[in-house]
Amino acid sequence: MIPYGRQDISQTDIDAVVGVLQSDFLTQGPKVPLFEKVVAYKVGAKHALAVNSATSALHVACMALGLGQGDWLWTTPVTFVASANCGLYCGAKVDFVDIDPHTYNLCPRALEARLVDAEHNGKLPKVLVAVHLCGQPCEMQAIYELSLRFGFKIIEDASHAIGGKYQGEYIGNCRYSDITVFSFHPVKIITTAEGGMAVTNNDLLAEKMNLYRSHGVTRDQSLMTHDSDGPWYYQQIALGYNYRMTELQAALGISQMERLDAFVSRRHQLAQQYDILLENFPVIRPFQHQDSYSGLHLYVIRLNLDKCARSHREVFEGLRAHGIGVNLHYIPVHTQPYYQKMGFKQGDFPEAECYYSEAISLPMYQGLSDKEQLDVVEALRKLTRT
Ligand SMILES: *Cc1c(COP(=O)(O)O)cnc(C)c1O
Repeated sequence: MIPYGRQDISQTDIDAVVGVLQSDFLTQGPKVPLFEKVVAYKVGAKHALAVNSATSALHVACMALGLGQGDWLWTTPVTFVASANCGLYCGAKVDFVDIDPHTYNLCPRALEARLVDAEHNGKLPKVLVAVHLCGQPCEMQAIYELSLRFGFKIIEDASHAIGGKYQGEYIGNCRYSDITVFSFHPVKIITTAEGGMAVTNNDLLAEKMNLYRSHGVTRDQSLMTHDSDGPWYYQQIALGYNYRMTELQAALGISQMERLDAFVSRRHQLAQQYDILLENFPVIRPFQHQDSYSGLHLYVIRLNLDKCARSHREVFEGLRAHGIGVNLHYIPVHTQPYYQKMGFKQGDFPEAECYYSEAISLPMYQGLSDKEQLDVVEALRKLTRT
């Protein structure tokens, strides 16, 4: 089976992890702060906080921004459930803004219309999670300008997007956001097995996320309510979690970061080849916004069903039957049973639902060979031919 995504592990990566196993620290040692430094430097952010998943990073980001009961978090329906669940973890309510039919990202025009309404109803969001679907950045400048006008905070969910650029600068510099979050799950661009990171330029947000990722406990005298009792002393000053990343994960992450740019350029090469190979197929190829250099976590095609011999489901099942592990990113979150119980209905976000009825994620990862890519294209040709 050719998967849709897969990690790339070198001997150097393996040696880095083994080195940690033979060292004094399996957790809470020197590798985590070094990994944070490497990522912060690369993306151009002041602070980086490593955690055990992007889901945890989204949670501590929402907590740091003060999201709580009575607040609203808005995001796109076309994302992994974690981008919305982080709001629920904090006791906030969640709503969605429909996607742009070209970029498949949250549409700034739809956002503006919804904000104008929300202002009248007194239901403005406190936090917006902007998801860079497939690695293509959202139109961040437009979203940022709306945040100034309507007073909400912005988290970039860049789980798909490390190594990508917006307006010529690495995603993660937080020029147009408060916090950016990355995922290092094995299907993503670089991996630490499980793992995530939150980056920010704001000292206070960094301090808060640092507390929340480790029990709300501090050893920093300046944060304590009174003088230390002695060298053993720590204080719990907030309610946090154990969301720490291990040294093994951080060592793998540091090693993977060496190849980040190479990974993303291989993904671009594969995307260019797909673009050419699929030119006369009854499919819509991914549109790339002129402001963006995508991380290209995913290569999503949409079937032009009027010109296609088979249904969306038949093409999908046919590809799987040919040993091609295609996938579908994503089932719109508002159609999940858990969200339907909160009152969302089929039909609430038509662009997202239309996308879902046509989209297929083709294999896209650094280790995909040109030969395997041709096999994918050949299988798709057979299945879509009229
Ligand atoms: C993968 C992913 C997450 C969650 O990442 P984990 O590291 O697995 O917790 C969140 N948001 C998006 C958009 C993702 O793709």
